[in-house]
Amino acid sequence: MTKRELEKFKKLLFEKREELTANVNHITGDTRRQSQKEASGDLSGYSLHMADMASDNFEREFSLNLASGECETLLKIDEALKRIDEKSYGKCLTCGKKVSKRRLSAVPYAELCIPCKRKEEEKK
Ligand SMILES: [Zn+2]
Repeated sequence: MTKRELEKFKKLLFEKREELTANVNHITGDTRRQSQKEASGDLSGYSLHMADMASDNFEREFSLNLASGECETLLKIDEALKRIDEKSYGKCLTCGKKVSKRRLSAVPYAELCIPCKRKEEEKK
């Protein structure tokens, strides 16, 4: 891969990271605000209907799951950036073959080539 291509992927990764960080901050910020209200002993919520409470919990759990999925992607992005520095970027972590540039353009933090990714998914 040429230096120029690496720079391009680096830029993609940074952009993606910024986007995700903003999302995660948004999600966890919302969740934190909700919990603080409860922790502060605000009992006005007591009159809430049980169903409302359940849906509140559900929504919070959903946000947290979403945030943790995005955190995982953030980790992958950091690792991909590290691989760019180590000049091993674009190689499949399993078989060591080059990951196609088309795939990297779509998923710049991809760790596996398509055949390995397929195998991985079959295992699940
Ligand atoms: Zn592979």
